[in-house]
Amino acid sequence: MSESALGQRLWSFPGGLELRHHKQVSCQHPIRDAGLPEALFIPIGRYAHATPRLLVQPGEQVLRGQTLIESSDDFAVAVHATTSGRFEGWVECNAAWPPGARQRCLALTPDGRDQSVEPTPLAEWAQAGPDALINHLRSMGLSGLGGAQFPTAAKLRGDWSGIHTLILNGAECEPWISCDEMLMRSRPEAVVQGGLVLARAIGARQVLIGIEDQMNTVARRLERACTALDTENIIKVIKVQSIYPEGGERQLIQVLTGQEVPHDGLPQDLGLVCHNVATAAAASDAVIDGLAVTERIVTVTGPAVIEPGNWRARLGTPASWLVARAGGYKDNVARLVLGGPMSGIALADDSLPIDRGSNCLLALAEEDITPSQPTLPCINCGQCVQVCPASLLPQLLFRAIEAVQHDQARELHLFDCIECGCCAQVCPSHIPLVDYYRHGKDLLRLKDMDERRAALARRRFEAREQRLARQQAEREARREQRRKKLEAPEKAQDEIQAAIERARRKRT
Ligand code: SF4
Ligand code: SF4
Repeated sequence: MSESALGQRLWSFPGGLELRHHKQVSCQHPIRDAGLPEALFIPIGRYAHATPRLLVQPGEQVLRGQTLIESSDDFAVAVHATTSGRFEGWVECNAAWPPGARQRCLALTPDGRDQSVEPTPLAEWAQAGPDALINHLRSMGLSGLGGAQFPTAAKLRGDWSGIHTLILNGAECEPWISCDEMLMRSRPEAVVQGGLVLARAIGARQVLIGIEDQMNTVARRLERACTALDTENIIKVIKVQSIYPEGGERQLIQVLTGQEVPHDGLPQDLGLVCHNVATAAAASDAVIDGLAVTERIVTVTGPAVIEPGNWRARLGTPASWLVARAGGYKDNVARLVLGGPMSGIALADDSLPIDRGSNCLLALAEEDITPSQPTLPCINCGQCVQVCPASLLPQLLFRAIEAVQHDQARELHLFDCIECGCCAQVCPSHIPLVDYYRHGKDLLRLKDMDERRAALARRRFEAREQRLARQQAEREARREQRRKKLEAPEKAQDEIQAAIERARRKRT
């Protein structure tokens, strides 16, 4: 246990690595506007609708902020036009993962006027109930901007009567990435107000904003914003030691509270909810300013880009456009990575459109890339275990996935792996461990989806069988009723005849 520079008790998480952060490279300039490319390809997101229903037709003119796809439930994120122009319809674009994959995007040709719909703030939001706040955030297309893109409404909705603390994650620990730091420097009030919005939605009584210990300017500006908004009693800014990956949700929770989120559990089980600072700023934009999510800040950096910096980019902007804003590549460029050097994904080319999770484009030169070494067998050295911040057994996970024992990998808590890359970094056998984990998770998700679909089909079949049986029984009951009705007059006639007979016999 230790104490932060701001006097808060801090704890530590297992494993992790101390890395050079290289953030200053992209913090020399304020955030710049990336402008509008000739065409935008807006990804519909990782948490897309099963059957997305378009609200506009190809060829229609749209305005920035206009809803293109409505959210059908808390897990489906609404998609909005990110500028004004002509809506072109569906297109397929490259996806970052898995290699060679494609994703469905909505194509838009900007008209250059960048006209927007009327903003729709939530009136009296400070008195609004959780459902009104969450529904508004959902309609504005909010999802996690820290990278995971998890739908914000799904994370906020629920019976959180035990929730006491909201944690805002500003501990952007991956080297080279500075988009969150620059956001907090430039818009501290939006982060603080967004914290209040999200806290109200879940009934949290306090907000902890975790930032890295070298973010002095950020700390000062956030505290000034708290004073200006009179929130010092609710919101605390806490500096944490820069050990990678302390920006992981579970790791930051452990550092700030000393509590470990259990395997197969959620932060909510501990009375905590964690959101990224960029998500908080977007919540403020949505609720207070009435703006849908149409842009994000992207760090374009690395030793092989001419003028590193941070750009405000519309969702759907091709990566190549942003690299051009940064002066283009240097002659020695060898690789473009989406994300940071530890957990990022090497891109096949720079056509990928920016989505809500695209925090960084990192251009590396040949000398920055570890020469690819032959992969050797695991020697069971245990180094990966020592650095794993999630207390997993990375070598056993690797063996289970390699042996196609995916259920065993699940039992070894594969889904607790945050793909931080610490294990692969230290592995003396150069095993691309994270690729194995991503592949294993993809297969398990597909398997789960197949099982859910099969269960749904089985339930539908059983429901149909029951419906048919019920209809058959109802038909038979109706037939019986009709038969009885038809028989009834005959029976009545017989009884009348018998009564006449009895009367006649009495008279004689
Ligand atoms: S670090 Fe590599 S070689 Fe060592 S146990 Fe882990 S997977 Fe095996
Ligand atoms: S990538 Fe996964 S298994 Fe490897 S160190 Fe990080 S959390 Fe642990």
